[in-house]
Amino acid sequence: MTRDSGEAIGAGRFVDTDSPYLERPVDVDQTGRIELPAGFSAADLHCHSDWSDGVVSPSHILDAAELRGIRIIAVTDHDMIRGALEANARSSHRDTRLIVGQEVTSRWQHHIVGLFLDNPVPLFRTVPETVRAIRDRGGLAVVAHAGLGLPSSASISTITRWLEETTFDGIELDSPFLSPPARRRLLDFYDAHGEGLGAAIGGSDAHFGDVGRVVTLFEGETPDDLRSAIESRRTVVARTSLKYPGPGLGMRLKNQCRALLWLPLYRLKVLLTGNFSNGRH
Ligand SMILES: [Zn+2]
Ligand SMILES: [Zn+2]
Repeated sequence: MTRDSGEAIGAGRFVDTDSPYLERPVDVDQTGRIELPAGFSAADLHCHSDWSDGVVSPSHILDAAELRGIRIIAVTDHDMIRGALEANARSSHRDTRLIVGQEVTSRWQHHIVGLFLDNPVPLFRTVPETVRAIRDRGGLAVVAHAGLGLPSSASISTITRWLEETTFDGIELDSPFLSPPARRRLLDFYDAHGEGLGAAIGGSDAHFGDVGRVVTLFEGETPDDLRSAIESRRTVVARTSLKYPGPGLGMRLKNQCRALLWLPLYRLKVLLTGNFSNGRH
């Protein structure tokens, strides 16, 4: 991938290469806050609330992010944005800012994350149509959790096919579930196709309030700073040394019920009624 050469590259001031991925995890201080050099911030751009298949509310996610020193948190519920919109309206005074996202289910089940949305994005479109729908709503389109080997996760060959028809504003180069060899393959792929894939994005895909395990680092602190860092590809992905205890059985059951029963029924309802603008328990 060609990055702007010569000038300081986003987080490049505290990494010794211009790699889009920080090989060493970002430190956490004794109080559990992420430690970054002055001028840089961390964003977690993939989190689910109990509006979809997460188990905590959007405001709980915001509180957890604030506690960890994460400056920006994207609530990216599956196929709906109402919970994120409502929480966002209540949080404009906070140190940590919430941005509204949606993890959109496309026609063949692959997930595309839309960030900076005001309006919901329709489901079950082809990936190029989904990208267009996200951009038509003023959002940025990000390939979610590539290379995981799940139906919702695109393989490198699938993304290569998509690139014949569309570009993306970003691609998640890491998530807590990605193995080191799979991440290596993804980074090599990004190196070769960065122009079409957009910015390096990291998110935790958190369902239990366990935010900040994988973050996107950027210069500045506001949502506007983040957006311009993404648009100019000056972001860096990193893991952090944040540790969470595994979720209890009750939380896991709730997550599984929401993911395997409630969400498929919700999507069926959307498919039958065409109404994708809502979402509620
Ligand atoms: Zn997903
Ligand atoms: Zn997700």
